[in-house]
Amino acid sequence: MDNLILVNKTHSIGVDYVPTDLVACNKEQNAKMNYIAYLREEAYRNAMDLRNDAKSNDYDIYVYSGFRSGAHQQRVFENFLEQYTKDLIQKYPSESLEEIKKQAYLLTTRHVARPGYSEHQTGLAMDIACFYKGNYNEDISNIGEIEWMHDNAHKYGFILRYPEGFEEITGYKFEPWHYRYIGEEHATKVVKKGLVYEDYYSKILGLK
Ligand SMILES: [Zn+2]
Repeated sequence: MDNLILVNKTHSIGVDYVPTDLVACNKEQNAKMNYIAYLREEAYRNAMDLRNDAKSNDYDIYVYSGFRSGAHQQRVFENFLEQYTKDLIQKYPSESLEEIKKQAYLLTTRHVARPGYSEHQTGLAMDIACFYKGNYNEDISNIGEIEWMHDNAHKYGFILRYPEGFEEITGYKFEPWHYRYIGEEHATKVVKKGLVYEDYYSKILGLK
């Protein structure tokens, strides 16, 4: 599998796929993190270079979440589904269970990738944390780290995967913390052309 693989709500990587070159990020970043983030080797090296560059600008950006297995995604998905189902039953007590389940499934797929459909399973996607110790602030407009990432991530081969206003194409709402490694050359082109990855993949790379 190469760095350009497209994984989204319609492109599955297969529930069982596991990269063979995962590296734990924690030694190079916050050793106090109780969750170990893994990235594929090339993405890892670039993420650590990015981190060091950001540090020299007084920004402490670290990889909060990297590779997630298909099995892990299955658990995440099921937890969300259960919670949404409970919430909807409470909110609409007279609604049929069949309808509740249908709506809960729709809500879950809107917020969480189905197993095998999460970009995190590639080992090339990372959620960064740089504020409130991994609790993402709703108002990210004034956070310097986010601006720094916006301007510099492509130099290390990372692109903002779910920009604001492209939910129709990407299938995800704006996620200022989620970055995807595709290599410097392609990342720079994506940024220059102002495209989301789905469009770059189909229109520029001519892939399906
Ligand atoms: Zn993510």
